[in-house]
Amino acid sequence: MLTDKSERMELYNDRNTQALLGKFLGGEISRLEPVFDPKVGYRYPVVEAIVGDAAKVEAFLDRLSDVGILERQLYDKMLVCPKCSSVSVAVHYCCPYCKSFDVQKSSLIEHVKCGYMDVEENFLKGGKLVCQKCHDELKKLDVDYRRAGVWCSCRSCGKSFDIPDATLFCRDCRTDSTFEEVIIKNAYSFGMREEVRKEAQLGWILVAPIKEFLAECGFDVEGPAFLKGKSGANHMFDIVARNKGDAKKATVIDVATSTEGVLVEQPVIALFAKIFDVSPDSAYLIAIPKMSDNGKKMAELYNIQIIEAKSQKEATKALKERISKMK
Ligand SMILES: [Zn+2]
Ligand SMILES: [Zn+2]
Ligand SMILES: [Zn+2]
Repeated sequence: MLTDKSERMELYNDRNTQALLGKFLGGEISRLEPVFDPKVGYRYPVVEAIVGDAAKVEAFLDRLSDVGILERQLYDKMLVCPKCSSVSVAVHYCCPYCKSFDVQKSSLIEHVKCGYMDVEENFLKGGKLVCQKCHDELKKLDVDYRRAGVWCSCRSCGKSFDIPDATLFCRDCRTDSTFEEVIIKNAYSFGMREEVRKEAQLGWILVAPIKEFLAECGFDVEGPAFLKGKSGANHMFDIVARNKGDAKKATVIDVATSTEGVLVEQPVIALFAKIFDVSPDSAYLIAIPKMSDNGKKMAELYNIQIIEAKSQKEATKALKERISKMK
C-alpha cells in the first residue's frame, strides 16, 4: 500500500497523468470509454492525444490502474485473428456435417390445431402463414401457432440441424479460425478512483509546485521520498530537500490539508513519529488552510515548523520567507 501511494504521488508529477486527471477533475471525462475502430480495434483518442503515441496508451492506462489511480471495468471483448492480428473477425455459423457456412437459419412453426410442424418458409403463402397439411390460415402467435425453436439447413450438403458450429472468419486475411485458435482481447473503460481526487490535489496541485520552487532555490528535491530511520524503518515524506553539496543536511516537508477549515494535531503527531526516528535538520508541516492551537503548541514542542497557507501560492510565499533559514 505504501509503495502504491508513493508510486501514485510520483505519477501525479508526470505531465501525461496530470493532463488526463485534469480532464477527470475538470469534469470533461466522467468515464473513459474506448471507441471502436474497425482497423485497429478499441482506442482511446483522448489519451492518444495526451500521450502522443498510440502504441504507448495501453501501458500508460495499465500503469495508472495498477497503482490505483484509475479503476478499470471490462467494456467488451475483441476477437483478434491469430494469423494477421486483424480485429475484423466475424462469426460464421457452419454446418456441423460439412463445415460449410452456407447455412440458412429459419424458425420452426407448429400449427397448434393439427400439430403440423415445419420451417416458417414452408408456411408462407402470399404473405400469409398457411398450414400445408390442413390448409388453415395461421393468424395469431401462441393461439393458432407457436414458434418451436430454430432450425438450420445446409445449402451445401442439404442436411438440417438445430445447433450450428461457430467458426471465426477474418475479413482481412480471409482465414477461418476455431475458438481454440482465436485471440480474445479485453477492452476496458476507466474511471478515476474517488480517493484519488483528494490525493491528486495534494500531490500535484500542492506538492509539485512547492517542489519546483525549492528546486529553483537550489535544493536537491525529492518527493515523495523515503528516509531510513535509526530503527531501520523507512519513512515517507512528501518532500525532502537537501542543500546542494551537503547531502547530509536534510529538510523534510509534509503537506496536510483539511476540508473542515482547521487541521487537528494528527499530522503533527505523524510527522513527529517520523522525524524522531529519522532526525532531519529541520521539519516543516504545511497546513492548509490552518492548524489548530493545540497542533501548533505540539509542533513547537516537537520542533516542527508550521506553515499555514490557504493555498499553494501562499505556501510557497511563506516558504520563501523562511528559505534563508533552511540554507
Ligand atoms: Zn486475419
Ligand atoms: Zn394444420
Ligand atoms: Zn453441410
